[in-house]
Amino acid sequence: MAAQEETVESKYVYDFAEGNKDLKDLLGGKGANLAEMTNLGLPVPPGFTITTEACQAYLTTGREPDGLAGQIEAHLEALERQMGRRLGDPDDPLLVSVRSGAKFSMPGMMETVLNVGLNDRSVVGLSRQAGQNDRFAWDSYRRLIQMFGKTVCEVPGEEFEHALDEAKHAKGTHDDLDLDADDLRGLVDAYKKIFAKHTGREFPQEPREQLDLAIRAVFDSWNAERAILYRRQERIPADLGTAVNVVSMVFGNLGPDSGTGVAFTRDPGSGAQGIYGDYLANAQGEDVVAGIRNTVPLQELEQLDKTSYDELLGIMARLEEHYKDLCDIEFTIERGKLWMLQTRVGKRTAAAAFVIAGQLVDEGLIDLDEALHRVNGAQLAQLMFPRFQLDHEFQPVARGIGASPGAASGKVVFTSARAVELAAAGEPVILVRRETNPDDLTGMIAANGILTSRGGKTSHAAVVARGMGKTCVSGADELEVNVPAKKFTVAGRTVTEGDLISIDGTTGKVYLGEVPVMPSEVVQYFEGELDPETTDDALVRAVHRIMTHADAARRLRVRTNADTGADAARARRFGAEGIGLCRTEHMFLGDRRELVERLILAEGGQQRDEALAALLPLQRADFVEIFRQMDGLPVTVRLIDPPLHEFLPPLEQLAVNVAVAQERGEDVAKEEALLAAVRRMHEENPMLGLRGVRLGLVIPGLFAMQVRAIAEAAVAVARDGGTACPEIMVPLVGAVQELETVRAEAEKIIAEVVGDSGVDVLIGTMIEVPRAALTAGQIAEAAEFFSFGTNDLTQMAWGFSRDDVEGAFFWRYLELGIFGISPFESIDADGVGRLVRIAAEEGRAARPGLKLGVCGEHGGDPDSVHFFHSVGLDYVSCSPFRVPVARLEAGRAVITTTGSDSR
Ligand code: PEP
Ligand code: MG
Repeated sequence: MAAQEETVESKYVYDFAEGNKDLKDLLGGKGANLAEMTNLGLPVPPGFTITTEACQAYLTTGREPDGLAGQIEAHLEALERQMGRRLGDPDDPLLVSVRSGAKFSMPGMMETVLNVGLNDRSVVGLSRQAGQNDRFAWDSYRRLIQMFGKTVCEVPGEEFEHALDEAKHAKGTHDDLDLDADDLRGLVDAYKKIFAKHTGREFPQEPREQLDLAIRAVFDSWNAERAILYRRQERIPADLGTAVNVVSMVFGNLGPDSGTGVAFTRDPGSGAQGIYGDYLANAQGEDVVAGIRNTVPLQELEQLDKTSYDELLGIMARLEEHYKDLCDIEFTIERGKLWMLQTRVGKRTAAAAFVIAGQLVDEGLIDLDEALHRVNGAQLAQLMFPRFQLDHEFQPVARGIGASPGAASGKVVFTSARAVELAAAGEPVILVRRETNPDDLTGMIAANGILTSRGGKTSHAAVVARGMGKTCVSGADELEVNVPAKKFTVAGRTVTEGDLISIDGTTGKVYLGEVPVMPSEVVQYFEGELDPETTDDALVRAVHRIMTHADAARRLRVRTNADTGADAARARRFGAEGIGLCRTEHMFLGDRRELVERLILAEGGQQRDEALAALLPLQRADFVEIFRQMDGLPVTVRLIDPPLHEFLPPLEQLAVNVAVAQERGEDVAKEEALLAAVRRMHEENPMLGLRGVRLGLVIPGLFAMQVRAIAEAAVAVARDGGTACPEIMVPLVGAVQELETVRAEAEKIIAEVVGDSGVDVLIGTMIEVPRAALTAGQIAEAAEFFSFGTNDLTQMAWGFSRDDVEGAFFWRYLELGIFGISPFESIDADGVGRLVRIAAEEGRAARPGLKLGVCGEHGGDPDSVHFFHSVGLDYVSCSPFRVPVARLEAGRAVITTTGSDSR
């Protein structure tokens, strides 16, 4: 019997009672959490969620998927039954809001339309519902036309704002609240005209049409320019789509016994426990988030409406207990009745993330593994930024709200475009605005810091800046900001574009001029200058506790890339367990450049040997210093890598100098010889030319001198009672024969120098040429360790010149989504990572116990650390300042399977 074909229609719409908090992929964060709160029995206005899958289908095909319209109809009918009202009913209308809500929060980047269901007739019904409140009904209607016009039909928002300003002007007021019902009715007429002028049609009166168009506009807003930019910045995948929440309207603008607010269950800035939030009486939610009117602290609600306040605190405690984390919420009070409009695990600053994780462990809500999961390396890196050193003459000129911590100085700019322009020219800038809106995103990304004169901790500027880890002071209301005149005044002073200011995102203080900076307390702790057992700094205690747990959990060891004693010492204080890459080339610079020139210009073996002999003691002293600092720990010293002509003057400059000197009749014999050498050694592709092991094989005695210096230094340290553990690393090997040749010579020298001193010297290679990765089984026969040079490996696997491409065209690749992040920054797991995996497996198969590490820039990148953990490397090596980050992420890699993401 033929199987009967049956098409099962996808479920695209979920009632709030059907979802839960774990369905974020499908229902988006807002929808999943509204469902969770509904099921907890909290007062959530009824509604339903259209899934991200519906959005994805719409974005792929350009039309709503089959079945969606019918499912919306069915859920709308159910909602109407539940509410006892019909959408847009002229006598007693149900109104709904249509809200975006993706899996990851994208504050203000997508669209929302409120008051859907209002038209020329239902506005009268709404007035009746509100107790013959005509003013409220007409205000709601004008808001709908404005929002719908702007977001659904792309009517320029300024036209509506202009009409509103005119209405206020005619009334002789600056305050919206002074406009009465007649004024607002007039404004609705004006808005409708604006709408018709721009769209060529009347404002739609049919409620269901309003709803469908608003839903479609929310779908479309996933691909709005600012949303794309935000996703790129926050590394949110481009194909997730947004869910759409259709929620019955409740009103915070029905009079003084109504209002709206936002709150956090702990301080998202510092993590401190307490009541944090903003409240605005007689207003709708958009007024708070946009920072248009200044709010009052949430505590003041206690005086205004104690019943709602107590209920709210009870709900906040319950949510924290339930989510076991800091929650942020949006609520509305409609005539004394509290409604929960949103909750989510709240965004927080890096400091708060650590402090809260520690507190929740103390409170028994989570264990240390979970605490480690909830922080990440990017946050730790932020905490290591310097802060202002204020034991100087600097006095703040204003104080706003410390909305996102950090210390930032820069030139004042007043527009996003100017911020981008100056930042591109390498200038640090502070973007100063009255308030920011989502169109300022490019400027916020470009700026060092953001300063606004209006808005609270939850204003757009604050939320977005915190998400990005950018310093922000908001609501500095002593500032009179005049954007068109490109100036602000404060405390009798005028600051114009280009003047330097400094802002402290922790204290909210604003300074004129550039304030000097000092190390953060977290760096002082890593430096051993702050004792975590005795300090009263909650952040340092939390960092110490979580780092200790990460160290106990991690399997990867963490080494550092360091080529001076000072760097080695600092990295060791930061927890480095050895050196994974000591680049020796810098040791050929400075006053040694002259010896290198002699080496390159040598006309015979004797001259060359003399130059090398002069370099030997200098190199030996370098290594002695480093081995001492890393006493007892492994130190991988890489033999010289870059092409030698990099140590000579640039060709053009030299040619000009020689020509000019010749013209003057000066003696230029030496310069001419130099010029001839530069010409001889010139390469079209130096990165692929005579460098690394190739140089060692071509210039007799060069590698031998370095090997001797390393071995002699190790012996000298051992004689002084120290323990040096050198590992000699050969760069740019592509074939085992190259390594065997270097190894044979090195072994002889080592045997001769080391004798019976007890010093053990390992010889290994970098794996940074794709051929080396693909023949790792052979290469392992001649190597005691591999260290992956993922900078070169990325360059050669992609064929991307590492010095050129990032600035030249990566922006386009990022725009096209070919990759979400530069492969030089975070390992390309599928391609370059595959080479690493092959080499690790085949190398270990050929030589069990082969030591494996990575020393490219990726060794300090959080996501890459997780990858290297998964491949089974023994260690990662990174710059000293990244060492704590790598330790933390190596610990997280053991207990989390979801990468470094803890959005
Ligand atoms: C590498 O290529 O990854 C590496 C560590 O070497 P360098 O950056 O010095 O070429
Ligand atoms: Mg390299």
